[in-house]
Amino acid sequence: MLRAEGVTLGYGGTPVVHDVTLDITEGGVGLIGESGSGKTTLARAFLGLLTPMSGNIWYGDQTLKKADQRRFRKDVQPVFQAEALDPRMRIGGSVAEGLSRGERHRVPELLRQVGLAPELAERRPHQLSGGQRQRVVIARALAVGPRLLILDEPTSALDVTVQARILDLLASLDTERLLITHNLAVVGRLCRTSHVLFAGRVVEAGPTAELLDRPAHPYTLALRDAVPKLGGPPPVARGRTEARPAETGCPFRLRCPLAAAACERAPALREVAGRQVACHRAEDVLGG
Ligand code: ADP
Repeated sequence: MLRAEGVTLGYGGTPVVHDVTLDITEGGVGLIGESGSGKTTLARAFLGLLTPMSGNIWYGDQTLKKADQRRFRKDVQPVFQAEALDPRMRIGGSVAEGLSRGERHRVPELLRQVGLAPELAERRPHQLSGGQRQRVVIARALAVGPRLLILDEPTSALDVTVQARILDLLASLDTERLLITHNLAVVGRLCRTSHVLFAGRVVEAGPTAELLDRPAHPYTLALRDAVPKLGGPPPVARGRTEARPAETGCPFRLRCPLAAAACERAPALREVAGRQVACHRAEDVLGG
């Protein structure tokens, strides 16, 4: 339904996401990477808020620029973090924002759909818990009947039991999703395929279960093993050092425990063990 093809994105002429190809397919797609890897930038492009420096975003068989904008805005809805709710607005008003006057009677039904009592429509955000606020944001996105939700860290601000219930809710919706997260437990549940980004490049992509079971890129491996602490900050996949991405060759090589002379040449994505991986040493990573 939405597809990035060779997309490079940046700010003020400086690219931060390089040559990404990504299909949003059925069963949920995860976008994983540490802070600054380009996840939100890519999400902005998928929402039509950022124009690619090169490459295209396809919406069906049309580029986003040429697509019917009304249909697109109905079909593809962002789910922002709950902090983005207007504190002065009543919950019912926030949920109804994308609805016409004649459709506002649907607010109680939408609140019920996300597991909230319709009475909460009269409250303001500060009178709700974090989990309830996140449900409101989801209800608001669902109001226009989207086919695809783009979710940016939908549960990272919530405590663990509340997170689990929000994930249950998301899993129960028959809406496609692109999920941005640093939390591998979340993609394991909600995304059939995942893309791992490092320094604005896809370094590994394929079935989520395979990526988690048998990572083929040292960065995926490091991310998986940097287990997030309950309630703690996002994990950082350190690898060998905390060096910045390399400017030439493989961007991960200064952090990579397996870096070799070959890694001074940038690795292209290639097919290995049922996924795409950009690593000269993928076979060694898989072999343990
Ligand atoms: P992530 O979502 O993975 O944390 P981002 O997409 O937010 O990553 O950021 C990717 C890179 O782009 C970072 O280096 C960040 O500093 C830069 N960046 C993000 N937003 C802007 C902006 N509005 N202007 C300039 N640089 C930006």
